[in-house]
Amino acid sequence: MTRVDDLPLREELRGQTAYGAPQLDVPVRLNTNENPYPLPEPLVARIAERVAEAARGLNRYPDRDAVELRTELAAYLSRTAGHAVGTGQVWAANGSNEIIQQLLQAFGGPGRTAIGFEPSYSMHALISRGTGTGWISGPRNPDFTVDVAAAVREIAERRPHVVFVCSPNNPTGTAVEAETVVALYDAAQAARPSLVVVDEAYGEFSHHPSLLPLIEGRPNLVVTRTMSKAFGAAGLRLGYLAADPAVVEAVQLVRLPYHLSSVTQATALAALEYTDTLLGYVAQLKRERDRVVQSLRACGYDVVDSDANFVQFGRFADSHAAWQAILDHGVLVRDNGVPGWLRVSAGTPEENDAFLTAAESVRKAFD
Ligand code: PMP
Repeated sequence: MTRVDDLPLREELRGQTAYGAPQLDVPVRLNTNENPYPLPEPLVARIAERVAEAARGLNRYPDRDAVELRTELAAYLSRTAGHAVGTGQVWAANGSNEIIQQLLQAFGGPGRTAIGFEPSYSMHALISRGTGTGWISGPRNPDFTVDVAAAVREIAERRPHVVFVCSPNNPTGTAVEAETVVALYDAAQAARPSLVVVDEAYGEFSHHPSLLPLIEGRPNLVVTRTMSKAFGAAGLRLGYLAADPAVVEAVQLVRLPYHLSSVTQATALAALEYTDTLLGYVAQLKRERDRVVQSLRACGYDVVDSDANFVQFGRFADSHAAWQAILDHGVLVRDNGVPGWLRVSAGTPEENDAFLTAAESVRKAFD
């Protein structure tokens, strides 16, 4: 039997395992920061309608520049993120992972480096590796906020080509302050200049306003977003960025032609028609997230303040054993490999109750 390592594989991929959380069939799955609410039925019907329309034209390639979709995404950001942007400032792709990949293809690559402040979203490092970009693991404070002085020092010394700032941060839920982003941006411009990517995949769940207004006058600042979380459409695969129009032009140098199918564009447009309904679910999830934080603290856990739709809690002498013990109660949470901590996504009130019951009895067992 041929093994992967028998193939003429790139050296840096040898011995690696594919990224992905376990997809286990358990009653309560709170491990991948999904939105627990299925799309409302009227939206499902609207998607069917718009997809049928798109299907009639499937003999043709899709709109390569996804202009209608980018216009609607720009309108959504302008309305909700505190800063007006136009179609030319927005770019869309198959999930924000593809957006990140396109950014690294255009601004990273062999002989170049990217930095992130860890623990953070592990795909930043993995997509860097996949695009041949060297990865630099930058520091955080013990409370998981970005250590600004250390980060600025690291940027000045290592002079990375791409700087990732995840806000709210996955897996800790920590929001980054605007002044911190400005300090990192200024350091990155003085060092090289380099591209600063603010990953706002969970932006809609934050107690704080979006960092989007910071793109004004900062042509090397990019904000990435996704419809996977707030829009409850992880299966759709639709991510997007907002930045200076020059950044949008740059990613068009590396995107595959017709990367965004007509079906994807039609579905995303239908979902955007239901923005207000979907943001209503976000409001409910934010309340549930806050309840999970308070309840975990009340039963004695350490909990990191969360601005996302998930919560990092601990501490455990053996977080993997605790993960298994919670799983034994039929609740799947995430062991991100942050020693002492686990992460749980905010679910429906019933799912959160099941999780909190499990967490309480595991806490007793581990005391
Ligand atoms: N950024 C962050 C911080 C994430 O947690 C995720 C998903 N887990 C993504 C980006 C990618 O999301 P998607 O590709 O579904 O848009």
